[in-house]
Amino acid sequence: MEKDTIVLYAAPGMGHIISMVELGKLILNRYPEKFSITILYTCGSVVDTPSIPAYIHRISQAHPSISFHQFPRVQNENKSLIGCSGAAIMFDFIRRNDPHVRLALQEISKSSAIRAFIIDLFCSSALPMAKELGIPTYYFYTSGAAALVTFLYFPYIGEQSTKSFKDLTETVFEFPGFKSPIKAPHMPEPMLDRDDPSYWDMLYFCSHLPKSNGIIANTFEELEPPAVLKAIAGGLCVPDAPTPPFFCIGPLIDEEKQSGDAAEAEVCLSWLDKQPSRSVVFLCFGSMGSFSGAQLKEMADGLEKSGQRFLWVVKKPPLDEKTKQVHGVHDFDLEGLLPEGFLERTKDRGLVVKSWAPQVAVLKKESVGGFVTHCGWNSVLEAVIAGVSMVAWPLYAEQHMNRSVLVKETELAIAVEQREEDGFVFGDELERRVRELMESEKGRELRERSRKMGEMALAAWGESGSSTRNLVNFVNSIT
Ligand code: UDP
Repeated sequence: MEKDTIVLYAAPGMGHIISMVELGKLILNRYPEKFSITILYTCGSVVDTPSIPAYIHRISQAHPSISFHQFPRVQNENKSLIGCSGAAIMFDFIRRNDPHVRLALQEISKSSAIRAFIIDLFCSSALPMAKELGIPTYYFYTSGAAALVTFLYFPYIGEQSTKSFKDLTETVFEFPGFKSPIKAPHMPEPMLDRDDPSYWDMLYFCSHLPKSNGIIANTFEELEPPAVLKAIAGGLCVPDAPTPPFFCIGPLIDEEKQSGDAAEAEVCLSWLDKQPSRSVVFLCFGSMGSFSGAQLKEMADGLEKSGQRFLWVVKKPPLDEKTKQVHGVHDFDLEGLLPEGFLERTKDRGLVVKSWAPQVAVLKKESVGGFVTHCGWNSVLEAVIAGVSMVAWPLYAEQHMNRSVLVKETELAIAVEQREEDGFVFGDELERRVRELMESEKGRELRERSRKMGEMALAAWGESGSSTRNLVNFVNSIT
């Protein structure tokens, strides 16, 4: 008998494809006889990388019940978007793939019953079409519940002013279930400027969230503040419509991530093996986080003065400092960016690597005692699973929301104080926070809480764990 199919639709880019693959693996792991998984993905986006085909080949070989369907190439350029943000270009590119989505869903339906269509948040434009075809459509939301609250609530706060959030420098937003408000300019970048199409794309996405059949999230209930979960379940975030069911099924992480150079990865891991237990601070800011030369010098200064051991991943400074992002792995003159003699003076207790370290493996090393992170959600989950406590230094996207929860609600992180206008952190401040994490009583308590949260992350997957229960509930809702 033909198995039923669950179709997953990944947004462009390796990270989004990996997230969908992990979700597919999770479903198949529990229901190997019931479903096959088809993952739809696009071709021709600016964020496509040469590593994608090899990854897809590897997954197809290892998991025959997962098949991939790549759409025909769509030209990325749209002249009307010249000068607009990357997010606007991404939303537009995905919209131009809508006809391919329709064809794919119709084609798959001929040979198998599609039980659910699960889309990335960027792929909202496919939702009305799938609904029209009578296919239950869910979001796979790859961040924490607090950021979801802000997305669900965004249409309501958006209505309260005609100004762009970036200009509301004195405004803070209160969100249902949040202990502390969020500053308007700390909302994710695509929401900041009404003159950029991404603002309207985000509004479209956020107002479509409640129209889905459910939201599946890569988090677990024990990691989330109870008031936030209650606010979602109680419908407080969508005042004028029912909130769809919310299934926390995480934490899902990609254990086998293969990026960066294998030999360099080995250098990091064997260096960590030689360090004392819980003595090393790991500094890493996601796949894109990068800093200006001035910021790097302050960081080096802070690390040197802290006297702590450290493993620090440094990326090439961004072309546009405001973005705090750089794409791809680059060669650059590391020594020239750091204070003179820094590498030599700290060589017995510090290792600085260019561009990339094998983060999941690093965080699991016994010698790692703390993590200075940009609060990207995958990094948060990886630290939580490894039981490592954090210093939170948000850079972009929904990271300020993640920071707020980690610092003020779940108390798994200490915040660095950032300069109001540009997020700059002075060396003394980094030194203070790193010492606090590694040396103080507060740091010890944080480590203990993080260790316990790591155990809860594992328990969420147990037979009676919350994520197992939620996955079963999701599957029951589609069959
Ligand atoms: N990562 C890594 N090594 C690096 C930088 C990043 O392995 O040097 C991985 C990290 O383990 C995580 C992902 O890249 O899985 C970053 O995802 P996250 O959501 O934290 O941040 P983003 O890159 O989306 O800003």
